Amino acid sequence: MNSNNSPPSSGNILIIDDIPDNLRFLSELLTKAGYTVRKVINGEMGIESAVLEPPDLILLDIKMPGINGYQVCDRLKASNRTHQIPVIFLSALDEEAEKVMAFQAGGVDYILKPFQVVEVLARIETHLRMSRLQQQLQQKNAQLEQEIEQKKAAEAALKFLDQGLELRIKERTSEIQKENQKLLRLQTELQKVLTQEQQRSNLKSQWLDTITQTFHTPLLTITSTLERLKEKSDYSNESAHQIQAISNDIRSMRQLLQDMSLLRNAEAQKLSFHPIALDLTEFCRSLTNQWQPTISPKYNILFVHFGKPPSTIMLDENLMQSICNHLLSNAIRYSPKGGSILFELVYEPAQVLIRVRDEGIGIPLEEQERIFDRFYRGKNADQITGTSAGLGLTVVKQAVAQHGGTITVSSEVNRGSTFTVSLPIQKFLYP
Ligand code: ADP
Repeated sequence: MNSNNSPPSSGNILIIDDIPDNLRFLSELLTKAGYTVRKVINGEMGIESAVLEPPDLILLDIKMPGINGYQVCDRLKASNRTHQIPVIFLSALDEEAEKVMAFQAGGVDYILKPFQVVEVLARIETHLRMSRLQQQLQQKNAQLEQEIEQKKAAEAALKFLDQGLELRIKERTSEIQKENQKLLRLQTELQKVLTQEQQRSNLKSQWLDTITQTFHTPLLTITSTLERLKEKSDYSNESAHQIQAISNDIRSMRQLLQDMSLLRNAEAQKLSFHPIALDLTEFCRSLTNQWQPTISPKYNILFVHFGKPPSTIMLDENLMQSICNHLLSNAIRYSPKGGSILFELVYEPAQVLIRVRDEGIGIPLEEQERIFDRFYRGKNADQITGTSAGLGLTVVKQAVAQHGGTITVSSEVNRGSTFTVSLPIQKFLYP
């Protein structure tokens, strides 16, 4: 039975009363109502029992021999172990002063004797519930406080981390800024160097243009004068020989200027390339015929061709002249004892091969890869007379590459060299 008709909650109740009838009555009533009951007959025993095993609620008689109810309550409230246990005073006196004292001593309620069953149970149940709610509240509070503490700690840790991170970001940012400034400086320096290089290169080009233009006309005039002189038959052998020597030197000079200009254009991606339908067999034969009188009787060029030429071959005539003239000129110059030069033209289904073989001094194996490099002169270049600038094969390689072809060399010291130019027919030689 309880006041709000809800089943009474179980609980542990200690009854302290010196009157056995009261004890029995309350004990039976509460046990029936579902509570666990302990009962003692004086204050000292009550305190001892409460400290030993704290109950959920205490019913405490005020008037008892030895220490009275107020003193018991005082001591219970003074102990950490028992101060939270709700105490309901039991008294036969319905006086205001008694009640005030009871509440001052720390009691939560006051039940008058003789006991009214409903009232007793209602009050007990109410205070048990309040006590439990209070405990739950305290637990919740403690939990909340713990959570707040944890949150504070986490926030502090986060702040600490944040500060660390911020510091690291600041440091890294400043490092990056420094690196960036360094890079900017480098970029400026590079730009300066590039500008200087560009100016130098422009100057070189202008200088080369000036030389080429300045020398071009006088060299042409000298060449044509020499040609006319050669035609006159009243010269002695010696004079004719000298005229030929001058003529050869002039040709070398014109060739050098032409090579430099061609390489400069190739470097600037401005190499002129105008393929035309060229009768290659006729072209090579005609070249042979031009060369032969200038080298007779010491050297002999033998031109041969094999295979069936395609109906049309598209080639740049000037570049083809450069290729063949350089290869023939080298074959002659690096054959100091004279001899035969074989000038071969081989038509194959997919390519045409131009091969120049000599029986000259040859090229050491270790130098063969480098002879196509600009200004590279082999050690053997000192054994020959005449100028050698190390540009001829570079020009040949450029001109061949412009046609999509390749050039290879095979050579043996003191036995001779063979240069083979291979030009693809399908890709470049047909229109
Ligand atoms: P160079 O003006 O020196 O002849 P090239 O570029 O034409 O320049 O040739 C580069 C080098 O290749 C030469 O210095 C020479 O050592 C070597 N060389 C070229 N052709 C021959 C050849 N037919 N026989 C031997 N050596 C050659």
